[in-house]
Amino acid sequence: MKCLVTGAAGFVGSHLCTTLLEQGNEVWGLDDLSTGKKENLDHLNENACFHFKVGCISNENLLSELIKKVDIIYHLAAIVGVKRYVEDPVKVINVNVCYTSKLLEIAWKLGKKVVFTSTSEIYGKSEDIPFKVEGNRVYGPSTTNRWCYAVSKTADEHLCLGYAKRGLPIVILRYFNAYGPRADTSPYGGVITRFIYQALMGKPLTVHADGSQTRCFTYIDDIIKGTIEAGKRSEAEGKIFNLGNHREISILNLAHNILEISEIKGKIIFQPYEEFYGLSYEDIPRRSPDLSIAEQILDYFPIITLEEGLKKTLNWYKKRLCNQYSI
Ligand code: UDP
Repeated sequence: MKCLVTGAAGFVGSHLCTTLLEQGNEVWGLDDLSTGKKENLDHLNENACFHFKVGCISNENLLSELIKKVDIIYHLAAIVGVKRYVEDPVKVINVNVCYTSKLLEIAWKLGKKVVFTSTSEIYGKSEDIPFKVEGNRVYGPSTTNRWCYAVSKTADEHLCLGYAKRGLPIVILRYFNAYGPRADTSPYGGVITRFIYQALMGKPLTVHADGSQTRCFTYIDDIIKGTIEAGKRSEAEGKIFNLGNHREISILNLAHNILEISEIKGKIIFQPYEEFYGLSYEDIPRRSPDLSIAEQILDYFPIITLEEGLKKTLNWYKKRLCNQYSI
């Protein structure tokens, strides 16, 4: 198959390109390198079946040219990272909604299948645990910037389902806290890579609030397996799937686990939300997926345990950061 991956140089995008190529596909990767890193794709430089383009999804001519070449589009390009939503809602809405809307229109006109990556953030602070695909979404006010990302992806899902109604083959995936090698370690990254980075750099792990908030973290290999199955199975078209993991853990216990697994005698400190995110933030106290539809239709059963995934991720960063900082 010929595939287009938008956001190819990002954490998930780079893993998706790698696996699609390993499975014998020809892949076009598009990324504007605003947050993605070219080095995430360095290992594919010599691969004749991989074609990388630097460009933004706002470039409609480039999009049309690329979409004409392929059979399927994995649309991953988006503004991600909680600190980014809080800092720049305009960018979030522009990229995640306006540019995505154009991409979907082009895909529809050219009749090309789309796998659209949405998010578990979409459930907001619903207390209806585990989150079912058809469960309600619960958000705070628009004066709290955090919710702009959930709203942007909700608009996208409506667009996707609208185009599905017009005949476009499309699948929507809601990822639950994906982590693994190449995830962002900066303050804009997710909590696992933040903690790993802090532990390896000999800094205290910054647990927000009292750390009782929970998440279900999903190792990248499981995310990629589910994503590729979603692209392959015609029964998945027009449907939404949670891609996650059942293991729920508090952020405080996660910090302890990372220190234990890394065998680093690091410290944990408690940091108020506002010190890190400013005032336009509200946390989600619990997040946990119902995976039944993904199990039935995608045969999706995550197999990497949290301990295994943390070890793999930690070892990868150990090597990388030790080389970079000679530690
Ligand atoms: N978090 C934390 N310390 C950090 C970064 C994040 O305690 O250095 C917390 C954050 O407040 C949230 C959870 O970890 O409760 C997950 O945050 P993340 O940014 O990974 O993504 P989210 O699941 O909120 O989208």
